[in-house]
Amino acid sequence: MNYSFRKKNKIVKFIILHYTGMADLKSAYKKLSSLNSNVSCHYLISRNGIIYNLLCPKIKAWHAGLSEWKNLSNLNDYSLGIELENKGHEFGYNNFTNKQYSSLKKLLFFLCSNHFIKFEDIIYHSDISPNRKKDPGEKFFIEKAGIKKKKFDYSTKFSVRKLLSIYGFSKNQINLHKDDCIKSVKRSLNYKIINSNISDRFEKNFYNLLINKKDIKY
Ligand SMILES: [Zn+2]
Repeated sequence: MNYSFRKKNKIVKFIILHYTGMADLKSAYKKLSSLNSNVSCHYLISRNGIIYNLLCPKIKAWHAGLSEWKNLSNLNDYSLGIELENKGHEFGYNNFTNKQYSSLKKLLFFLCSNHFIKFEDIIYHSDISPNRKKDPGEKFFIEKAGIKKKKFDYSTKFSVRKLLSIYGFSKNQINLHKDDCIKSVKRSLNYKIINSNISDRFEKNFYNLLINKKDIKY
């Protein structure tokens, strides 16, 4: 198993959700537990809802890779990584199962209360590495894991760049990979077609997504 020790000044603030992107559970487990793979995670949830605890949350796992969020980089330092078994975009992207959602719900509520993590800080690999990663992707519905989303009316107009920054993308990522950031947001919004086009509907959906993040100050 790959891991490092957390530095004392770097506390866990985020939960990062992934899919395994491998043909089956066995190969995903093998990769996540092999020393040669250079990756690892804290939890793995199989399609039949079994939660495998691979590393203690006190230990730093290697799941995020090159990543930036808000003003932080290398998110492994600040996060717990949960992998959901799914073949992913490369091998045949499936819907996540109800058993996975119900186990994920239990795990998220447990981890958020134990580590004082806010629901809005449950983020996706595609959020922190938009130019490299698509997971967990547009077939993942966080509300099925008990994280509620409310609907609000679109009232104030912000530029898309401003919305991307409020969402959490780093300045660097917005400057270098704006289109990928937009695609990442569309995945979070469960769009069926993922492209970087900006429509009124997208701006409205994006605004609604943001307004759900309670502690955001404008
Ligand atoms: Zn990932």
